[in-house]
Amino acid sequence: VISQAAEELQLESYVIGGFVRDFILQRGNAKDIDIVAVGSGIDLALKVSELLPHKPKVQVFKNYGTAMLRAFDLEVEFVGARKESYSEDSRNPVVENGTLEDDQNRRDFTINALALSLNKSNFGDLLDPFNGLEDLKTQLLRTPLEPGITYSDDPLRMLRAIRFASQLNFVIQKKSLDAIKENYKRIKIISNERITEELHKILLSERPSKGFALLHKTKLLKIILPELTALEGIDEIEGQRHKDNFWHTLEVVDNISENSDNLWLRWAALLHDIGKAPTKKFHKKIGWTFHGHEFVGSKMVYKLFKRLRMPLNEKMKFVQKMVLMSSRPIAVVDDDVTDSAVRRLIFDAGENIDDLMTLCEADITTKNPRRCKKYHN
Ligand code: ATP
Repeated sequence: VISQAAEELQLESYVIGGFVRDFILQRGNAKDIDIVAVGSGIDLALKVSELLPHKPKVQVFKNYGTAMLRAFDLEVEFVGARKESYSEDSRNPVVENGTLEDDQNRRDFTINALALSLNKSNFGDLLDPFNGLEDLKTQLLRTPLEPGITYSDDPLRMLRAIRFASQLNFVIQKKSLDAIKENYKRIKIISNERITEELHKILLSERPSKGFALLHKTKLLKIILPELTALEGIDEIEGQRHKDNFWHTLEVVDNISENSDNLWLRWAALLHDIGKAPTKKFHKKIGWTFHGHEFVGSKMVYKLFKRLRMPLNEKMKFVQKMVLMSSRPIAVVDDDVTDSAVRRLIFDAGENIDDLMTLCEADITTKNPRRCKKYHN
């Protein structure tokens, strides 16, 4: 239909970006598809709607020159091919109409610049000016232009690189990683909403520790989530050491990701020890302690959610509750709930008992082999 509409309007059209990438990688369940028109994307969207039997409503974003409609469970986004140029003194690029090549040049990674032709003359052809197909095969993240320029122009791309590395299990090209290490401070100009979107995606990937280790290595994490980097390091006094709570946290996040897709439980795993940095003390007799870290941690969750513009609703309360309860002594043994502390815990956890147990199991360390058997009544 898009092809026919474009032909009627006598313009070129292409499928571009994430849809093409995921199609080649056979990552199913696409929710959106981006169409680029060499000409007006809005006109193309209106024409497509006219040709579809259900005449879907077209949402037009005039300021951006884009339009969107829903069809066959897909959000189809239309944009006119554009050329972008960034200048030193403005965060936003100067945008002009352009060719398909111009539009591919403005994309962040070679694997996101792939385009499939919808034109009659070469329908289905893959237009791949930067050898993105090869990068898909070798699992490499590479920028079409000089990485230093790409990341400095739009610093969100640094987070996108790390997000894709984590989501797709790709490697970031060395030159690109070096450019992120040079430009990391520029992330400060990006809004917290956009940063949070990427953090959610890293957390939802199969092994989130990959993304967080990269954020740490590039120093981005210290800017975005200083509460976490504060957990790094092992102190030693009089021969007594505590575990490195940063790397431990990443293990817990990976463990939980094997057992739960719940984004908020994953956030709870990520934040479960954040109160330990400000409460760390050394006592001559008992060694290292983190007294009250769960209360401090749960208060820190509120501040962190607020800063990152995350919802301050029941989702946050759930994370707070998990942080507050995750270090309570748990020894819930099937059918044998005699210990009053255990009974209290089950009562306090309420409907969240299963999630708490999942977190408890993920948090088991060799030094702290707590029993987290599920309570069955
Ligand atoms: P996902 O849907 O998993 O988030 P995606 O690649 O589709 O992945 P979108 O944010 O929907 O991500 O972006 C669509 C396309 O727009 C990308 O594939 C890329 O070509 C381009 N794009 C998005 N953000 C940027 C950016 N900051 N800089 C350059 N190109 C971008």
